[in-house]
Amino acid sequence: MLTNQTNWAGNLTYNAKAIMQPTNVDELQELVARLPRVRALGTRHSFTDIADTPGTLMSLANMPPNIHIDTTAMTASVTGGTSYGLLMSELQSNGFALHNTGSLPHISVAGATATATHGSGDGNGILSTAIAALDVVTADGSLVTVDRASDHLPALAVGLGAFGVIARVTLDIEPTYRVRQDVYRFAPWETVLEQLDDIMASAYSVSLLADFGSPTVAQIWLKTRLGVGDDPEVAPTLFGGIWYDDSDELAPQNVNQRASIPGPWSERMPHFRLDGEPSNGGDELQSEYYVRREHGVQALEALRGLGAQISPHLLISEIRTAAADSLWMSPAYGQDVLCIGFTWAKHPAEVTALLPEIEATLAPFAPRQHWGKLFSFSRDIIAERFPRVADFTELRDQYDPQRKFWNPFLERTLGAP
Ligand SMILES: Cc1cc2nc3c(=O)[nH]c(=O)nc-3n(C[C@H](O)[C@H](O)[C@H](O)COP(=O)(O)OP(=O)(O)OC[C@H]3O[C@@H](n4cnc5c(N)ncnc54)[C@H](O)[C@@H]3O)c2cc1C
Repeated sequence: MLTNQTNWAGNLTYNAKAIMQPTNVDELQELVARLPRVRALGTRHSFTDIADTPGTLMSLANMPPNIHIDTTAMTASVTGGTSYGLLMSELQSNGFALHNTGSLPHISVAGATATATHGSGDGNGILSTAIAALDVVTADGSLVTVDRASDHLPALAVGLGAFGVIARVTLDIEPTYRVRQDVYRFAPWETVLEQLDDIMASAYSVSLLADFGSPTVAQIWLKTRLGVGDDPEVAPTLFGGIWYDDSDELAPQNVNQRASIPGPWSERMPHFRLDGEPSNGGDELQSEYYVRREHGVQALEALRGLGAQISPHLLISEIRTAAADSLWMSPAYGQDVLCIGFTWAKHPAEVTALLPEIEATLAPFAPRQHWGKLFSFSRDIIAERFPRVADFTELRDQYDPQRKFWNPFLERTLGAP
């Protein structure tokens, strides 16, 4: 039994009996072939028990990143356990970029993509949409490459750890670009709801940071992609919000520059800096739900109706967008979505009691959930909302007939194949 081995937020102690840290792919293949129950572990930033197993956790933290940039194919391949932060800095120093990032650069590439991690932007797919190929160690220890020529990639790209241990991920890259972050404070909720689509379309990546119990949206973050030499005038007010210059203040040290100063994508797209602890340092819980874009305003209005119950336990809500994709377990499968995230105070009992109420309030809008954040949906609801669940479990059964990588989380949320 592992002792004191918890996820990043410390709300979960893993039940696994052991943790292995192979240093190369051969060793990884040998371990996976030999052990009866295995589950890949990333950087432990999920809040659910999705990474847990009654068997052995397999961490790739001791495998070198081996970043390889292919300037002809315009891809970068990297060991699955490598952090996005390390990859981003290597790409930037070679003149390349990713299309988007999550809010934190600390997460592993394989772990983040396995749970459909996303950033924001009406035209931006979740991070897994950049996957061109995966090298997966499957249940018998074979190393299998699944790329865009295979109709399995849409299942494995958001694979929930169910197909094996991803040794290497190959991602699409593009030439580097600059981004400017402009922050507007205290826009009235009414104005934001009236102009929601315009606001979300007003920059390459947009985040609203808000409390449903407050009359205003605390901050609107606009991450604008700049052309060479571009640095347009900053508007003093926008969408009813007032421009925020944090350059002279004691701004939180864990957050990337927000005061409209252009910088490389790698230092503007993620909210948090790699050299600090992200968010509330782990003294928090998180949940996230996704609704179709056309239901976005009604969904936010419904949550405002629950403001008095939500606010006492909420640190902040972050509202973003993601473009529709064709990845089977993606919350954006087949539909453009509004992503409604909740960063909660560490009030586990109260948050556990509140989630079913939030889910019932959002039920008319058929929300899907983030796989790595807390939720209480039953497997029947998940099967209704994610139309490819049966295909996913059938394919998983082909890859892993003995259910080596199956775990209680998958049993609870997807059921037996
Ligand atoms: C402060 C904070 C901010 C966050 N911000 C965002 C955000 O902006 N957007 C968003 O969408 N989410 C966000 N998240 C959620 C986070 O991105 C996901 O929980 C993500 O899965 C964490 O990656 P990880 O490397 O920690 O994976 P883990 O939590 O360690 O594992 C997650 C899953 O990935 C699987 N996995 C890990 N490695 C491999 C591998 N090598 N092969 C196969 N499967 C593997 C595991 O088995 C498990 O099923 C945030 C979380 C935190 C704590």
